[in-house]
Amino acid sequence: MYIFLYYFVKSYKNERIWWKELGVKVVKFGGSSVADGLQLVKVKEIIESDPERRYVVVSAPGKRFNEDSKITDLLFMCKAQAENNIPYEQLFQVVSDRYNAIRYNLDINVDLDEHFAEIMEQMEAGCSEDYIASRGEYLSAILIAAYLGYDFVDTKGLILFDKKGRLLAEETNEALSAELAKHDRAVIPGFYGSYKDSGEIKVLSRGGSDVTGSLVARAVNADIYENWTDVSGLLMADPRVVDNPKPIESISYMELRELSYMGASVLHEEAVFPVRLSDIPINIRNTNAPEDPGTIITTESNYDKNKVLSGIAGKHPFTVITIYKNMMNKEIGFVRRALAVLEDLDISFDHIPTGIDSLSVVIESSEIEDSLDEVIEAFNQRLHPDEITVVPDIALIAVVGKGLSNSIGVSAKITAALADAGINIRMLNQGATEINVIVGVEAKDFKAATRAIYNAFVS
Ligand code: ASP
Repeated sequence: MYIFLYYFVKSYKNERIWWKELGVKVVKFGGSSVADGLQLVKVKEIIESDPERRYVVVSAPGKRFNEDSKITDLLFMCKAQAENNIPYEQLFQVVSDRYNAIRYNLDINVDLDEHFAEIMEQMEAGCSEDYIASRGEYLSAILIAAYLGYDFVDTKGLILFDKKGRLLAEETNEALSAELAKHDRAVIPGFYGSYKDSGEIKVLSRGGSDVTGSLVARAVNADIYENWTDVSGLLMADPRVVDNPKPIESISYMELRELSYMGASVLHEEAVFPVRLSDIPINIRNTNAPEDPGTIITTESNYDKNKVLSGIAGKHPFTVITIYKNMMNKEIGFVRRALAVLEDLDISFDHIPTGIDSLSVVIESSEIEDSLDEVIEAFNQRLHPDEITVVPDIALIAVVGKGLSNSIGVSAKITAALADAGINIRMLNQGATEINVIVGVEAKDFKAATRAIYNAFVS
């Protein structure tokens, strides 16, 4: 309804009231935010406190406490039991009891029994694992739509995959856009869609509701995509390594990608892509502390240029293989032949720092565990090096920040901090995108090195 699209905005500054076109916010609530009735009361308050929060993407109920089970895990277990001819009915009862408890607690007027019966029927008929796994989000969205008085919009037939299970991004965008235009306010299940050809349910990878939220945000051309979880955004370092790291107020998509790759996790890796295409910012928020501003993830153009460091993340173990050969830089095709060895043996590498007479390849140790001897042998045969050294157990620390490239003395600061802490640097590499510096240290020094670098940049 047209009237819905406008609301009063009051300006406290000049005490004027005017009409403002209603914006669109897509809000996604993760498993812990929808785990029980108490959490859902918070969710409702958050949504109702801002009329622009019109499209709500939900996960399946997650853990209520540490030892609790996620609904999605229970559903996967139901299927595994059925496959091994172990009765699964009791386990499914645990699932249905959790939804019913929420329904009774909040007095939600919706009949879930018909849905439970349908799911059991499909189980008897030998449904796919993806189908059963997706029912967590499906039931969650039906329940929450009834609780909020919003429409329920199923993603089956809207989020589309090709035969190989690859997301059809443009077709999905069109289908979602057309359907959501018919609904002023809707609750949408996360985590799944369907094959375009067969119409069968297909789930995304674990944590995939983040991706659904992003697809929905793009489809409705949202002003912002709010991702509500149980932490107040990203921190500048891992709190298990650095005491009380500062929160990150804003970060670019590219920086986030660097930090997530090196182990910082808060958002599904693929969730950035759809919103980045349309320049829609993501705001990570905390359902349990809605007053906290959280972290804004945005494009470079909107980004605060004065900040040097955004965050630090790291992982280990990596193996560094260094090939030494006199006059290597004059030997045409040397690097290509070295990389061809890795390609032929199907090994992916992370970095290739080079010197005049040496080339190092930095590889995640798990990637090369079984084929190290084979790789060395092939390097010897194809490159005829003077020497090859292998250093296992290296930790890489990514120091990430858009400001790093245009501030002087960044590397000096890092090396001085590590020298003061008595830590030996095995590698120092500035990424080509100039938003990160990668520091390699021995794995045993990982925590001390991270702390030293953090303290050097953050006062
Ligand atoms: N429920 C799914 C999972 O546990 C998807 C999600 O919550 O994002 O992975």
